[in-house]
Order: sequence, then structure tokens, then C-alpha cells
Amino acid sequence: MIDIHCHILPGVDDGARTLEDSIKMAKAASEQGIHTIVATPHHRNNQFDNYRGDILTRVAELNHVLQEENISVAILPGQEIRIYGDLLEGIKSEEILPVNVDSPYILVELPTSTFPRYTNKLLYNLQVEGYTPVIVHPERNSELLTKPDKLYEIVKSGVLTQVTAASLVGKFGKKIKNFSHEIVMSNLTHFVASDAHNVHSRGFLIQEALQDIESTYGIDLIYNYQVNAERLIEGESVVGEVPERIMRKKFLGIF
Ligand code: FE
Repeated sequence: MIDIHCHILPGVDDGARTLEDSIKMAKAASEQGIHTIVATPHHRNNQFDNYRGDILTRVAELNHVLQEENISVAILPGQEIRIYGDLLEGIKSEEILPVNVDSPYILVELPTSTFPRYTNKLLYNLQVEGYTPVIVHPERNSELLTKPDKLYEIVKSGVLTQVTAASLVGKFGKKIKNFSHEIVMSNLTHFVASDAHNVHSRGFLIQEALQDIESTYGIDLIYNYQVNAERLIEGESVVGEVPERIMRKKFLGIF
């Protein structure tokens, strides 16, 4: 299995703190059946910056250590970029790192509680330049939660999304769990990933989430998500089912 979003690089953000932490995470991933992890340190999230060149060096170092430790998990380079107005310039100046270096896929994180006005235009401009943005954990953005049509519109425009395993199994609360399932059911996501930060409070939970999806929606969906993850790291096109609007039941109150 491939995990496309994980904070496994040591000492670069709020994920693994030490090399020992990274090794523990790699072992935990392996136990979950994960053989390939895209390391996605935070960038420009107001707390952490991780530039393309540094990530490439650190990924090579971690792969070397995991080989020495006989842990059969391969680490690929990636970056979780908090959306910012000059992202396109960041690509040109080699600040930004697409998934696995030369794929067209860029993992983009929205702020927690807002959906910046320039988002749609920036996502469009990225696509015009040949990139495919992947919005990570849209279920954790509170504006999308209340205005899910905005998510529908961006997915319809060709943007991909990744739901986090922990959200699906309820680790971020019931609202986010329900929204995650609405996103899955409405064909508004293309990947399930761990966004693991450690092996305790923010672990992998991929098996738990996939079992949940399989029993609720059937095994085909899991297969599709895995094929998409393979295509993502190979830089090939990802195809999803036709996106649908999230329809919520409106209850009539007595006024
Ligand atoms: Fe993350």
C-alpha cells in the first residue's frame, strides 16, 4: 500500500522529532501493509518551512537509514504546502516540490477555518501551468464543512482531494467524520492517506479506515484509491467517478 501524506521526516515539523521516531513510524507503517510513503513536511504553514532542496536531502538520508535497519518501506519526496498567493512563483524558483519530484501533483493544504478568496483562481492557474493540485484533508476545513458546494466546484474543475484516515474513523470528532463520509459518498475524493505525525496521538489508522470503507461502501473503492495513489507517484493521470454535490437533509422546524 502507498501512503501519500505523512510527516515522517525527522526534526522538520510537528511530525517525527528524532530519527528514532521516524524509524518507529516506518515500522508501524510496515505493520499496516504500507510499503511506500510520500514524506510531506509542512511548508509555509506559519510555523514550518521546508524547501525543495532540503526535503530531497533528508529523504535520501532517511531511506539510507531504513535500508540499514532492514525496514522495507521506501520514502518518496513530497511537501504539504499551505496555500499562498505566490505559489506559482514558488514552483518556478524551485521552492516547491511536487510529489516524487517530477510528477504534476502538488499537495495543497487550506487554512483550518477559511477558504481564501484567491483559492479558485490559484487552483485554476496551477492547472493551466500543467500541475494538478491535490487538496489535503478538505474535511478539516470549517468553511467547506458549512459550504460543501465549494468543494464540489473545485473537484469538478479537475482538482483532486485526499481524505485523512483518522477523520474517517472519528479521531477529529463526529462532524469531521460525517463530512469525510459525505465526501467519499459524493465522489469528491481520490485518495485516503494517513497524515501520520507519530505512532501515538496521530498514527496511521489506514487499515481501520479502509476496513470501514470496505464494509460501508464495498471493496472497489479501496482498490480505486490504491490505483490512484500508484498513478500519483508515477505521475500518471488519476481518474475519479463523476463528482456529485453533497445533499443534506433539511429539517423543517415549527416556527
Ligand atoms: Fe499533513
